[in-house]
Formats: sequence, structure tokens, C-alpha cells
Amino acid sequence: MSQILIIYTGGTIGMMSDPLTKVLKPINFEQIMDNVPELEKLNCKIKVHSFEQIIDSSNMNPAIWSELASLIQSNYDDVDGFVILHGSDTMAFTASALSFMLEDLGKPVIFTGSQLPISAIRTDAKENLMTSIEIAKAKKHDRARVPEVCIYFDYKLFRGNRSFKYNSSKFEAFRSPNYPILAESGVHLRFSVNDIRHPQEGEGLKVHKNLVSDVAVLKLYPGISPKVVETILTADVRGIVMETFGAGNTTTDQWFIDLLKNAIDSGKVILDISQCKVGTVELGRYETSKHLKDVGVANGYDMTYESAVTKMMYLLGQFENPQDVKQYLETDIRGEITVS
Ligand code: ASP
Repeated sequence: MSQILIIYTGGTIGMMSDPLTKVLKPINFEQIMDNVPELEKLNCKIKVHSFEQIIDSSNMNPAIWSELASLIQSNYDDVDGFVILHGSDTMAFTASALSFMLEDLGKPVIFTGSQLPISAIRTDAKENLMTSIEIAKAKKHDRARVPEVCIYFDYKLFRGNRSFKYNSSKFEAFRSPNYPILAESGVHLRFSVNDIRHPQEGEGLKVHKNLVSDVAVLKLYPGISPKVVETILTADVRGIVMETFGAGNTTTDQWFIDLLKNAIDSGKVILDISQCKVGTVELGRYETSKHLKDVGVANGYDMTYESAVTKMMYLLGQFENPQDVKQYLETDIRGEITVS
């Protein structure tokens, strides 16, 4: 019989409305189980690890990502897959971070949650939870069907590091426009076999827990002043994620180029991702991005914002040399970018 570990971190799925204040507050895992008697009928053994402090995912942080990675590492040989219950607000950050921390993952790690609490009559929590367990235990020829860090929500399975929270009021909370969905659940559970990644042959799981969160974000807008850009580029951080226009373009004003060059010369790594949710950065396609390539800005291709920030944290923890960080930012390491 398959064995699944459910890790409960918090989120709306496990919240209840306070009768007096109407504010949503976390409940414990036993109360969640009481709402899903169907769990008993699944043909698998379920182990549960509930975090001592149940949180709204706005309070998520890299220390908890490390704790999650440790839990996966210590239970890896005993279970067939993992389901992580997590608030949807920052789920894509945690899923992206975990995808980088878990190298050569051979078992499913499925993040899920819900838009309505599990106790609500119209809840989306039950379907999300039940199908996530189905996916976590799914095997073919004795191998996991989806040995990836994923997000399952509203009948769709997404690669974690390709997805972002797109809607705060519909059940369809996530999208991954730059990569196909990995499975869809309807009458049948259909896997997109050719889009699913598998670990390198003969390699076992390697867990990297050292993340460096010295990262700043520079989101551009027409009229941004030298003072604002300088403040961000001279902040005491090692990596900067720069959100640019269209296919990775920025102003060609000399003051801007000089500030970027100074930051890179001082040992910082700057990563160019686009404010567009669909499509890719193409450094050098327009005159307005050629100078970025010339000064040594890293190309983020079609990476999500969530992946960009967490990949930067992961690589800063792996490498001291900014050139190494830049090289790996531009390399597809966990299926997070399409390098054209
Ligand atoms: N605020 C909640 C959280 O992210 C929202 C959710 O769970 O969907 O924890």
C-alpha cells in the first residue's frame, strides 16, 4: 500500500471563521480530517506532520522552507510522495524555492490549499486535497509519475517553479502560461507525460538548505528617478531582480546604464525578467536591451518573478563568485526557464 506524508503548514484550507469577528483563523489538522471522512477510503496510508505554528502563508520565510526540505529529506525513503498544505498567497514562492533546494528529486512533492476553508459548504479544498494525494501516489512501472515539486489547484497540476498566483477570488487561483500543465483531472486523471521532468539516471536526492536572502527587486516604470534606482542598486545585497518592460527592455539613459554598470562592477548580480507574464526576455533584440547585455546583466528568459527571487537566493547560497551565479541564472537547472 502506498504511503503519503501530508505536511500541514496552514492557509485558508485549514481556517475557520470566528463567529464573533468573522475573521478567518487557523484550525488544527484533526479538525481538517473531520471534514474529509473520504480520506479513509483512499487506498493508502497517510502520515501527517503538522507544523507547531500554523501560519497564513504571508508569514512564510526561508527558515520554514529549510524545515520543509529537512522533513522531506528525513521521510524520503519511507514514503511514496508528499502533499504540502499551504496558503495560496505565497505558495508559488515556496514551491519554486523547494524545486531548487531538492536536486534530483525522484518523488512527487505536491503543494495544495484552497480558496475557501475546508469546512465551507462550497469549498474547493476537498477536491484539491483528494486529487493531490492521488497524484502523490501515482506510479507507472514502479516509478513516480510526477517526480517534481508541483502545485495542484482547481483540476490542474502545474510545475511549481513555472506558476504564480493569478486570481484571489476564483477557484482557478494559479496559472503557468510559459509552460504546459503537467496533469489535468476530470473523469480521468491525465498526465502530460512528455512535459514531466525526471531526475538524472542513477542520481539520488540532494538537499540544499543554504539560501541567502540578500536580494532586492527593482521594478521599472516610465519616469523612475536616478535617486530611486541608485538607492536600490547600492543597497547592501548581493543579488537584484530587475523587472523590465516587454522582451526585457529598459531606458537607454546614460545615468541608468552607469548605475547598472557600477553595481555589477561592485560584485552584484542583476537578473532581467519581464513584467509581462507571458513570453520571454530577449537581450539584444531591441536597442533598449542591448546595453544590458553589454554591461553584464543576466538573462532571465521566461522565468516567473517567484522563481527569479528564489533561484537568486539559492544560487547566492551555492556560489561566492558573481560570475558563477550569473552563469547558473541563465541555465535551466530545474525546468524553470526555456533557454532559447
Ligand atoms: N491568506 C491565505 C494564505 O495564503 C490565502 C490562502 O490560503 O489561499 O495563507
